[in-house]
Amino acid sequence: MRRQLERTLWATAFLAVLLGPALLAPVLHGPRAGQTPAAGDGSSLLSALSVGIGLLATSMLVCAVVLPSRVRSLTRTLGIDGVLGIHRFIGMAATLLVGLHIVLVVVAKPANLALFDVVHAPNRARAAVGATVAMGALIALTVLRKKLRHRYEVWRWVHLTLAGTALVLSALHIWWLNHLIRDTAMRVVFIVLALGVLVVLGYRWLWMPVFGAGREYIVREVRPETSTVSTLVLQPRRHPSRRGCRGLEFAPGQFAWLRLNPSVRSQEHPFTIASSAHLGLWTEFTIRHSGDFTSELRLLRPGSPVWIDGPHGAFTLDLQRTTGLVLIAGGVGITPMMSMLRTLAHRRDSRPHRLLVVASTIDELLFRGEIRQLQQRLDLTVVEVLRRPPPSWTGPSGSIDEGLLTELLPGKFRRNQLDYYLCGPPAMVNDVLTVLDGLEIPEPRIHTEQFDFV
Ligand SMILES: Cc1cc2nc3c(=O)[nH]c(=O)nc-3n(C[C@H](O)[C@H](O)[C@H](O)COP(=O)(O)OP(=O)(O)OC[C@H]3O[C@@H](n4cnc5c(N)ncnc54)[C@H](O)[C@@H]3O)c2cc1C
Repeated sequence: MRRQLERTLWATAFLAVLLGPALLAPVLHGPRAGQTPAAGDGSSLLSALSVGIGLLATSMLVCAVVLPSRVRSLTRTLGIDGVLGIHRFIGMAATLLVGLHIVLVVVAKPANLALFDVVHAPNRARAAVGATVAMGALIALTVLRKKLRHRYEVWRWVHLTLAGTALVLSALHIWWLNHLIRDTAMRVVFIVLALGVLVVLGYRWLWMPVFGAGREYIVREVRPETSTVSTLVLQPRRHPSRRGCRGLEFAPGQFAWLRLNPSVRSQEHPFTIASSAHLGLWTEFTIRHSGDFTSELRLLRPGSPVWIDGPHGAFTLDLQRTTGLVLIAGGVGITPMMSMLRTLAHRRDSRPHRLLVVASTIDELLFRGEIRQLQQRLDLTVVEVLRRPPPSWTGPSGSIDEGLLTELLPGKFRRNQLDYYLCGPPAMVNDVLTVLDGLEIPEPRIHTEQFDFV
């Protein structure tokens, strides 16, 4: 109910931001009473259309900037995959609309081609060209990131700088164009938009890093799980006897950003909380040491400080009413499933659940012992699938196909009442989605989380 309300409120806010400026633009209505039309302010249909499209692109840019700013109610409502999916989509759409805006500006008045001569062009045109170049570079770098093999952190800072440049130059373009902000209603719209963006960015880049100090935790232990995976156990820095000191409150399946330094410039990485939501003061993260940051985490000593920004995300069983869960995990994608199962065991849940884990080898199957113990406390069916099974392996191997799932799941009516949680490498998640589609599982019952942002 609360989620539905939050969803409706966010959808309304985004629609207002997206459509408000374009719909209120005087050029689409003609000048208001008491105003005289400014010279060349779009008497023709084409230039009116170009202004409307330009405004729509600016609103989209604003939404694209606000979406990934870690507003918790937003990540909880849409899920991080949803937030980033919409962010990518409207980022691309805004760039296409900017292209269309430029084409219309030139078609409406071919003399406007001179505006591309940035040496002699007026400031409004220079700002527009700069914003367009920044947006084009942003999209190109995102599409090519994997091929260019830049470090994630380098890509991220370039991405943020280009986005900030595009936003500021778009605002200057509108300011220097002048004919839009002369209209009182439009002036109010722009001021509200600018203040909204400043509040969200101020919260993300100033308030959280500076006043989020209560989110300082210390390492209790680093527990090795396999040669490449460890569990980081954290507890709040403040002593438990002090008032207000509680462990992190989260819903099982949510994640948090971790950093080893309070500065906004320090590296910060997302990890799913693997522990039960009822573990009290301790919070656990199970991490594969795949690169520089994750390898550093393994070397942390008890007492080392760690800063947490979270919880975030909607990949949790607490937002759904269901008759049972089907958890499908690949590799370290088992972390949200462990949080869910541990929490369900704490809650003495009696519904039937199914866990399907995929790994390359037996050694890479995480938490085997604990999962067997959880089977004593829960109605839990477990299927392990190996990609590279040894000759002695008698269980399923290869990829998850329709046959395997049909064997694991009940008949059509009952399996459509279950909720499906998928987490693992993107290729595995996509394959399983195709299989679930073939089984006609209702889409709202399928929840996915991918451990990659780009
Ligand atoms: C929602 C979510 C939950 C996750 N949960 C877990 C978990 O429980 N356990 C686990 O082992 N891993 C998890 N990951 C993956 C983890 O964030 C990356 O493995 C980690 O950031 C890699 O950092 P690195 O510097 O050690 O490796 P690198 O070699 O620098 O990075 C490897 C890849 O990880 C991605 N990555 C790197 N830095 C970031 C970043 N700051 N933000 C997002 N992606 C990044 C990039 O695609 C990069 O190519 C999760 C990722 C997401 C998005």
